[in-house]
Amino acid sequence: MTEPTVVIDLEKEKQEILKRYRGLLRAGKKVRTDQEKKLIRKALTVAIDAHKEMRRKSGEPYIYHPIEVARITADEIGLGTTSIICALLHDTVEDTHITLDDVNSMFGEKVMKIVDGLTKISSMVDTGENQFSIQAENFKRILLTLSDDIRVILIKLADRLHNMRTMEFMPRHKQLKIAYETLNIYAPLAHRLGLYAIKTELEDLGLRYTEPELYKTIEENLSSTQKKRTRYINKFSLPIINILTDKGFDFDIKGRTKSIFSIANKMKKKDVEFDEVYDIFAIRIILNSKPEDEKTDCWKVYSHVTDLYTPRPDRLRDWISTPKGNGYESLHTTVMGQDGRWVEVQIRTKRMDEIAEKGLAAHWKYKSLSPEQENHLDTWISKITKMLESGDNNALEFIDDFKMNFFADEIYVFTPAGDIKNLPTGATALDFAYEIHSRVGDQCIGAKVNHKLVPLNYELQSGEQIEILTSKKQTPKEEWLQYVVTAKAKSCIKEAMKEEQKKIAVDGKEKFKVWMDQLAIIVNPNVLGQLTQHFGVPSVGDLYYKIATDVVQLNDIEKFYKQKFENKKKKVPKEKEKTKAGKIGMLTLGIDEHINYKLSPCCNPIPGDEVFGFNSADEGIKIHKTNCPNAMHLLSNFASRTIKAQWNNNQNVAFLTGIQFIGIDDFGLLNKITTIISMEEHINIKSIFFTSEEGFFEGKIMLYVTNTEHLQSLMDKFKQINGVHKVDRLMDVTG
Ligand code: MN
Repeated sequence: MTEPTVVIDLEKEKQEILKRYRGLLRAGKKVRTDQEKKLIRKALTVAIDAHKEMRRKSGEPYIYHPIEVARITADEIGLGTTSIICALLHDTVEDTHITLDDVNSMFGEKVMKIVDGLTKISSMVDTGENQFSIQAENFKRILLTLSDDIRVILIKLADRLHNMRTMEFMPRHKQLKIAYETLNIYAPLAHRLGLYAIKTELEDLGLRYTEPELYKTIEENLSSTQKKRTRYINKFSLPIINILTDKGFDFDIKGRTKSIFSIANKMKKKDVEFDEVYDIFAIRIILNSKPEDEKTDCWKVYSHVTDLYTPRPDRLRDWISTPKGNGYESLHTTVMGQDGRWVEVQIRTKRMDEIAEKGLAAHWKYKSLSPEQENHLDTWISKITKMLESGDNNALEFIDDFKMNFFADEIYVFTPAGDIKNLPTGATALDFAYEIHSRVGDQCIGAKVNHKLVPLNYELQSGEQIEILTSKKQTPKEEWLQYVVTAKAKSCIKEAMKEEQKKIAVDGKEKFKVWMDQLAIIVNPNVLGQLTQHFGVPSVGDLYYKIATDVVQLNDIEKFYKQKFENKKKKVPKEKEKTKAGKIGMLTLGIDEHINYKLSPCCNPIPGDEVFGFNSADEGIKIHKTNCPNAMHLLSNFASRTIKAQWNNNQNVAFLTGIQFIGIDDFGLLNKITTIISMEEHINIKSIFFTSEEGFFEGKIMLYVTNTEHLQSLMDKFKQINGVHKVDRLMDVTG
């Protein structure tokens, strides 16, 4: 993307900064004291001066960015003056001459600590070439700040949101990396903190950059059906408005559309087109209730709505009686509207709505109202802290565990005494046992769910009541690690395994001593080092364990020494110097034939697809499509190993790809398809596969094409054939 040329008009920019500053003072619709205004002004002056030589990629003065981040912090997250000041200063310590000491002396310790937290997070990004996984480490740091001051994360989210909103002029590879990282980490984090509006926008923007075409299709479809949808929602809402007014409710009713991201997800998951995503209609009823009437009012409204429209029994969600872990409260139902369409109806009070939109910040505002909810969040944060403390696992594993434990949807289950426990979806009876106490987990032999006996790995469902059966003779087993999903259970089992291994290893050590005497080898650290390396174990203790459990036997050790002896006799040829792939700025596919690259079989790119290279440790460079199912994992966790890549235009090579059809069988359909292919000049068929059952046919064709344009024109021709309903490109052409 070319950078825009901007004619710089300093006077105009000054006016613009002033305008934005005034907007900032009004942000959050709060009345600020003169002292507060003075501090904001001071922070702005410091930031303007510090960033005065800097411009953004768009050509705009850099200071627009911190001002906007500050405004988002106040307006869209609902934080106060301290956070505005920190947001204004968030990039100064990292990018300019300003130091933390300066911030401390000008704005005090609290501001300094938050700015320090923000600096620590961002200084991890884009550093260290060989860092195993920068993002994973970075993510851990972000979480560490949670327990210090949650505002650090909230301001970081505002920063990310503004960067996502203004990514247009970034180079493409950076857009992709940032967008995938946002989808992988920041959007789920926003979700978990209850910031729904920000989560939704981050997801939509993420999709816009990772799958621009899909995004555009949905966006266009939404805007072309906008009027129709509004008309329908009005027609649907009118009877509800009438009855609620009649009954004297003070309420607001809003039509809402599903986010582009969630529509895209539905389309992908169910493999359907836009028109077939059925539940894009939704309304929200927001009640102005007295605190003591909130729950009753919501259920009364539910009752009126379901008098008018029939509800789908499996779609009632009551997050009022048991709020989500992030504090979300609402009543959801899906009802059958006019013309047989499903409409989701959300019922909640103003307080609940504010918490749903702004999450934490609103939470604090209503703190006095619901102490249990504050508890939810505290429990969540203290669980995260514990997990970080026990973190002996590597960073990537940590992210997976974390996402499983803290981003996954939750289930609610009960103890025999009726106490409620939150667990991530997928949690088993054994997880539940460990949730009660580590000893209960260690001694667990089974469980009763709703009074019925179940095995340890039984997957729990919301609402079930669980009684754990224990035995003092029970000890944790290695395979239990496969049964559990919670971090707590995993770390308890691993801990117990270690203890167990230590005990067993003592026998192994005795055995080892006897063997080495037989072989007449004197045991010293050097010998132990060679053996642990040879058997691929991390420590001597592990070696002893393997010996005790007969995984390593006497003749294995004998073999090792024989081999060593043989090798010494032979003259050892010099090991070939490892060829090191030099730094590759841009891989031009088709030209750089001296560079060994492969087209990855997971997505099979062909010329015309947007692609990137990935330096895989064992198989050289692999080329993936930027919307490959693995792209998110690769780009957000191993950004430093990715390589920019583009196709060479004068390509004459043919690439293997696949097309899939679905349709209603009609005489000669196969014939029509093969005729079209045979008329094409540059196409070679590798294989054709058709099945037809009761008039419904499915087909797959593997063929060689030169580029995407070529493929698209062929697919368009197929779509013209009578009876063909759906034509798709196959991602995986191995099958
Ligand atoms: Mn920033």
